[in-house]
Amino acid sequence: MADAFTGAVLDRAADGRRRDSDWIAAQMADPAARAVVAGTAGVRANGDALERVALPDAVAEADGADPPLLLGLDGEGPLFALDEDAPVEPGRRAPMIGAGGRRGEPAPEAPGRMALREAVGVLSRPEGGLLAYAAGLLNWHRTHRFCANCGAPTGHSEGGHVRSCARCRSEHHPRVDPVVIMLVTGEDRVLLGRQPVWPARRYSALAGFVGPGESLEEAVAREVAEEAGIETGRPRYLASQPWPFPASLMLGFVVPWTAGEPGGSDPELEDVRWFSREEVAEAARHDDQWTGEPAGPGPLMLPPRTAIARTLIDAWLSG
Ligand SMILES: [Zn+2]
Repeated sequence: MADAFTGAVLDRAADGRRRDSDWIAAQMADPAARAVVAGTAGVRANGDALERVALPDAVAEADGADPPLLLGLDGEGPLFALDEDAPVEPGRRAPMIGAGGRRGEPAPEAPGRMALREAVGVLSRPEGGLLAYAAGLLNWHRTHRFCANCGAPTGHSEGGHVRSCARCRSEHHPRVDPVVIMLVTGEDRVLLGRQPVWPARRYSALAGFVGPGESLEEAVAREVAEEAGIETGRPRYLASQPWPFPASLMLGFVVPWTAGEPGGSDPELEDVRWFSREEVAEAARHDDQWTGEPAGPGPLMLPPRTAIARTLIDAWLSG
């Protein structure tokens, strides 16, 4: 499922209804209101679907003080997201929603919860999209409890889509961090790199955050030059994917090599090199998981099929 975390089907009520506090209150009081419930241990889920908990039950069971966030309306009524954990004390770093165990595995002490890295391979496409939306919004609230302008505590408004500062009247909006991810292609080969923290033998497309004042095309060229010392031509946009770890939007490109040989000095990459079409095609025949960690030498391992990097690689393989 190369389009994981996309495909939520929901009326987000972003047309002005969300700014009407009476309308928000009516949604909360609606007997059909339900909530997607998530915390550090994961999101409440059953099989390939998220649980929808009746809103009053979800609020009563949650340990948290935070009000529910309105995700939008589906065919059954209003749908909210609720953080089931209490907020961390001020000054402490908040863990991510759905972080799971130490390495992102399911949290065994929290039955019925699914960690995000597990969910990405299990949930149906619309459910994965809904989870990306809920987790992105809940994570933003966890880490933006104070005004970035004056430091005062901020409160919810617009159903949780804005945090407002009563002291300086600033409004803060949920954050999405654009990341370019690009497959550099040349002469029937592709450029892939690996980070030392990844499972052995896994390589993936190069990626990096877009900087202020930078176009996507400029970000692609700069990142490839920094990470691989390679010059590239005009990038071609292929697809995007929300990646809620915690708030990225991956923007996928294919870009032709024009000059240079791999040899960057990026400390995050331990290797970057060309792979032939045969090597990549052979690797694509082996399916694998984020948590799979083969030991020792062996053939190349590609990113999991849930990642947009794999979409780029598969698109190149199929021409
Ligand atoms: Zn303020």
